[in-house]
Amino acid sequence: MRFPENDRPSPNFSPAPAHEGLGVCFHHSVMSFDETIAHMLRAESAVSYHVLIAPDGARSRLVPDERIAWHAGASVFHGRPRCNDFLLGVSFAGDTRAAPLTGEQIASALDWLAPRWARRGWSPAWMTDHRQIAPGRKDDLHPAEWTRLHGAIVARFAAVV
Ligand SMILES: [Zn+2]
Repeated sequence: MRFPENDRPSPNFSPAPAHEGLGVCFHHSVMSFDETIAHMLRAESAVSYHVLIAPDGARSRLVPDERIAWHAGASVFHGRPRCNDFLLGVSFAGDTRAAPLTGEQIASALDWLAPRWARRGWSPAWMTDHRQIAPGRKDDLHPAEWTRLHGAIVARFAAVV
């Protein structure tokens, strides 16, 4: 299944000539899709994701993959700090503590991952969420929704390594 994607360039990124893109950190934005886009188009917010996924699966690309988006803040993954330097940021509009991800959001995330997975040599071990790389500080995604998303990623891509 394919979903529409448009460009909404955010001013909030670092140039990162050597972005490593070792994996992905998933988020929820709490706000609605349109509110999140507006927030990230404002330089004063100083936050951004690479891509935002609406409840119907439509996506907006805010920062090119080759740049560093400002999504993780203080964080550690696989013993490495500054996760923005090596993880792409993908966010779902909405709040997974209040409502589960839609089936379209999960399918759209898989659709976004598909062309990048083999090219970048990703593995399920390098997929994570904000809660796990900033424990005690961030609570996205809801643990049950992370389990659901990670299961879908493994089912789709585990054999593609
Ligand atoms: Zn987050």
